[in-house]
Amino acid sequence: MNLKSKNILVTGIASNRSISFSIAKILNEAGANVLVSYQNERLKDRVIKLTNDIGIDNDPYQCDLTNDNEILKMKDDIVEKFNNLDGIVHSAAFAPREQLNGKYLDNITKDGFLVAHSVSAYTFTSLAKIFRDNLNPKASLITLSYIGANKVVQNYNVMGIAKASLESSVKYLADSLGDKLIRVNAISAGPIKTLAASGISGFNKILEIYENKSPIKANISSEDVAKTAYFLLSDYSTAITGQTLYVDNGFNIMGY
Ligand code: NAD
Repeated sequence: MNLKSKNILVTGIASNRSISFSIAKILNEAGANVLVSYQNERLKDRVIKLTNDIGIDNDPYQCDLTNDNEILKMKDDIVEKFNNLDGIVHSAAFAPREQLNGKYLDNITKDGFLVAHSVSAYTFTSLAKIFRDNLNPKASLITLSYIGANKVVQNYNVMGIAKASLESSVKYLADSLGDKLIRVNAISAGPIKTLAASGISGFNKILEIYENKSPIKANISSEDVAKTAYFLLSDYSTAITGQTLYVDNGFNIMGY
């Protein structure tokens, strides 16, 4: 199914390894009008080059998702130029590096807890709230989660708790927006070596464990996630909402 005539906002591109970069690429190839946002000035030139390289001609938006005024400004500009959205990809997360190491209770601080939740969970709700009147019927909102939301993953710590909040938000948002036929889902991805992942202590060990333990004895790629994102943003998934779909080569089903 092509995505022609769909306006889709993709947040969270920081490098060519970003999961959202692969998503933007596949959506653009499928004919969607892809609008991209990045966090701050530091990323501007890189994101312009990356999007140009894959044939996206729309100028990317600079938008810190913790700043509602920046989201509002981006929304006004998008609506003026392109009209309402058919999809939003939320692909942003952050926790202070020192909290992604050791035992949760040894390193957690109130500030770290609040920052992790503000960036990694609330920003999805914030996007939904600010764009709610500018979403077309059958629009689809997706976010990215990780198994650390539901199971203890060493060093993932406060980020796991923020992802649990994010996954619960998916359900409440799905209920809030369902009467407009708008769907909200999360993809729980297996580990992928990106900038965000490099902040988690022992990440290489996690990759090794997935490769050995998952039914499909391999790690996943950003392209694997992008293909599922494509499905969730398309009209092939119109009866799916409030879900967290695992894209992890089956790792989550395994016990010992
Ligand atoms: P990434 O570092 O490429 O992307 C993270 C993005 O979050 C960056 O673009 C960064 O600029 C953005 N961001 C952080 N704070 C922001 C803010 N205040 N405003 C706007 N943007 C902000 O890494 P990634 O792995 O592609 O991460 C994307 C998403 O996927 C994250 O939610 C991450 O938790 C999730 N995820 C990653 C993995 C993995 O192993 N890489 C696995 C499961 C889920």
